[in-house]
Amino acid sequence: MEAIVGMGHFCDTHGPSVILCTHPADGPLLKGAPVATPACDGCRSIDDRTVLVSEGSDRCFVTTRSSMDEHVARLLKDVVLRSLSIEVVSEDAESSGSMYFGDDSRGHVISHVFSLKDSNARGFTRRYCLVVLGKNPISLLSHYDFIEENLRKTGEYLRRKSEQSKAPLKPTAALAQLVDEPHVFAQLHMRFVFLLAAQIYHLEPPRAPDI
Ligand SMILES: [Zn+2]
Repeated sequence: MEAIVGMGHFCDTHGPSVILCTHPADGPLLKGAPVATPACDGCRSIDDRTVLVSEGSDRCFVTTRSSMDEHVARLLKDVVLRSLSIEVVSEDAESSGSMYFGDDSRGHVISHVFSLKDSNARGFTRRYCLVVLGKNPISLLSHYDFIEENLRKTGEYLRRKSEQSKAPLKPTAALAQLVDEPHVFAQLHMRFVFLLAAQIYHLEPPRAPDI
């Protein structure tokens, strides 16, 4: 795993949950299926059997509801849990903000947390996070501004859409209903592919010169 982009939210039924995951793949032929995770109507994103694929110049980028790799799925779940429950962000009254955390065993993370208007959720908002999970802290932190800006702009886009939406909400509305945008997951796929295609995630840590 070089780096993956994920999205999670806080579900009133399931707690912190992963709802979308984009990662590079060596070729368009995919084996396996996304790791099964519990999902209510509010957790719904793309269908479990749906795979969104974009071909880059030398590899593909694949979006599924959860990772096809059990280890990565567990790591991502842990990242969403820490983003939404443990790590505290407070830059403004709307409690959106970005942070870096991580270690070599669970991966290194840049996370942006934000809230969307949801009249049926506790507190009338639903918490979301957008995360980039990588194994190399040097490459992530060297490009922190680029990564953070892209995650933040995606969060701001979703928040604008949810504030403009006049659509009546069901008791457990999925993201597509909150932002009143049926193609929101295809849009997120393209934004996540843009982030991963930047090819900034395999910078090796500088070595001390031999003396
Ligand atoms: Zn749920």
